[in-house]
Amino acid sequence: MITLSGINRLYRTDEIETTALQSIDLEIERGEFVAVMGPSGCGKSTLLNILGTIDRPSSGQYRFDETDLTGLPEAGLAAFRRDHLGYVFQSFNLIDELTIDENVELGLIYRKVPRQERRARVAAAMDRVGIAHRARHIPSQLSGGQQQRAAIARAIVGDPALILADEPTGNLDTENGAQIMDILAALNAEGSTIVMVTHSPSHADLARRRIDMLDGRVVLSVRGAI
Ligand code: ADP
Ligand code: MG
Repeated sequence: MITLSGINRLYRTDEIETTALQSIDLEIERGEFVAVMGPSGCGKSTLLNILGTIDRPSSGQYRFDETDLTGLPEAGLAAFRRDHLGYVFQSFNLIDELTIDENVELGLIYRKVPRQERRARVAAAMDRVGIAHRARHIPSQLSGGQQQRAAIARAIVGDPALILADEPTGNLDTENGAQIMDILAALNAEGSTIVMVTHSPSHADLARRRIDMLDGRVVLSVRGAI
């Protein structure tokens, strides 16, 4: 599904040049659940942002199925994100002024999904993560674990080809973190492709493949039981 070839990402400021990613070659198959690990600053979020087309590589190629995303203009990438990707962030990133069901629905409005179908899909996504009873609340009225479940509902409501999660349990206590991992593992078992950054070895063990990064490079990639 995904092929990264020779991906580099440099950040230049006036005085310093940081190599966030260096010569990344990576293939991800449909249906995989990949955990990305490594010390702070090693490039995990940069890798996820490039996979999510929120950031562009300085050089190298990113192919998604038959499409070379590297050459697409921003409008094409925006359409790609809307149609194929779901994001889950450490800090939930729900819109505070909208209710939970409105947060989950927003992406479907951008996709011009008809109102009745939107309602059905929003209800199904909220049900899926056990947050339906909080549909009319605003995010600040929910616990962190509930907000992250709502964020997962928002990520899956459009039936994305790929779910990207950057430290999804990083702001949660052990029990809520475990619930989020249960949901992600179940989504993967049902066929979702997931790439997740985590600092937790036990959470990484729930993935079917682990990638270790160091100083902008992939230093280890292990599939199967770890
Ligand atoms: P991780 O998620 O593994 O902690 P990041 O991908 O966020 O690491 O960062 C990798 C490296 O790139 C770090 O050295 C970081 O300081 C640098 N970096 C990330 N984003 C920027 C940016 N917008 N401008 C300059 N340097 C950045
Ligand atoms: Mg990070």
